[in-house]
Amino acid sequence: MTRRLSIQSPLICIERSNIHGRGVFSLCNIAKDTKIIEYTGEKITSKEGDRRHQLQERKGVFYVFKLNQKWDIDGSKGGDARLINHSCNPNCEYMITQGKIWIRALRNIRTGEELTYNYFVTEQGRNPCKCGAKHCKGAM
Ligand SMILES: [Zn+2]
Repeated sequence: MTRRLSIQSPLICIERSNIHGRGVFSLCNIAKDTKIIEYTGEKITSKEGDRRHQLQERKGVFYVFKLNQKWDIDGSKGGDARLINHSCNPNCEYMITQGKIWIRALRNIRTGEELTYNYFVTEQGRNPCKCGAKHCKGAM
C-alpha cells in the first residue's frame, strides 16, 4: 500500500501498520502537546453510540468516541483520526475541548513514528492487541 497524505493535517500520513490495518504516521518531528488532528465523524446520542460500538467491536474496530454524557462521535465515515491505532503505551492522547475531540502529542514524536493513543476500552476485550508495548494488556 502506498502512503497517502492527510488533507486534515500536514503533520501526518496514512500507511500500512504493523499494529492493525492502516495506521497514521508522523511526517516530521512533532513536539509534545501539539494538537495533531481533530477526531471527526457523525455526532450521535450515547445510546446510539453504545449500539454501534457493540456492532463494531464484533468486527474488531473501534470508531465510537465518547464526547460527553449525552453525545458520541462515530468516526466510521469520518476523518483520518479514526485510523490512529490503539496502544497500551501510546505517544498521543485525546483531549476534549469546546465540543471537539483532538489528538495531541503526549511526548516528542520523531519523523516516521506511528501515532497511537489509548482507547481505554473498558469491557473485557475480545480483540487481541498487537501494540507490542512492554506492558501490553493483550486484548482490547
Ligand atoms: Zn497493547
